[in-house]
Amino acid sequence: MTLCVASCAAAQNWDAMRESMVREQMERRGIRTPAVLKALRETPRHLFVPEALRRSAYNDHPLPIGHGQTISQPYIVASMTELLGVRPGDKVLEIGTGSGYQTAILARLAGRVYSMEIVEPLAKEAAARLKEMGLRNVEVRAGDGYRGWPEEAPFDRIIVTAAPPELPPALLAQLKNGGRLVAPVGREWQELVVVDKDLDGRIRQRTEYPVVFVPMVPRAK
Ligand code: SAH
Repeated sequence: MTLCVASCAAAQNWDAMRESMVREQMERRGIRTPAVLKALRETPRHLFVPEALRRSAYNDHPLPIGHGQTISQPYIVASMTELLGVRPGDKVLEIGTGSGYQTAILARLAGRVYSMEIVEPLAKEAAARLKEMGLRNVEVRAGDGYRGWPEEAPFDRIIVTAAPPELPPALLAQLKNGGRLVAPVGREWQELVVVDKDLDGRIRQRTEYPVVFVPMVPRAK
């Protein structure tokens, strides 16, 4: 009995678990941007995973969130956010809302975040969760990310958290001159790609490291 009480209390010490996640999984592996670390410290990841998995929320791996989808490994969220280089006031497009965890991090860094999710129930749950957390600068739309969000384009930053086989042309078109896009690209073999569009609209791209993401589902033909 005593043991149970002690371990239950320890398991629910979310703040301590989050602090050690940030120190061990992010700072020790080289995540340095203060605003990114602050956003990670302020975002309660355990509220973005199914209740039965909460105790694993701060562990060093992805977790299932239902509908065959996953919440990404914490380090990957941190690293992609750092690579994206969001500035205060930026207008950000995210493709693949999933749980809304990455969305919440972005909302703390950007001016406004537009997030698209193709699985409607996930979009609804994430929107409700983000609203409940008081993040008012976020809009979630159920829809196909291959089309982007033309009504709100262009965007300063675009982040994709499901892997398309190639960079979707609509997303490149909706990136501002001087803007940046970060996406996992590939099929079985995927790499994290960083695209910069210069002030004349020219595209430069580089690959960072191999990744494993759920595929970005093809648009209806
Ligand atoms: N960033 C998320 C991780 C989501 S996993 C998080 O922090 O939880 C990738 C998500 O992309 C899944 O929810 C999947 O349904 C969604 N997705 C896949 N193809 C898509 C598409 N064409 N358009 C929009 N979302 C898509």
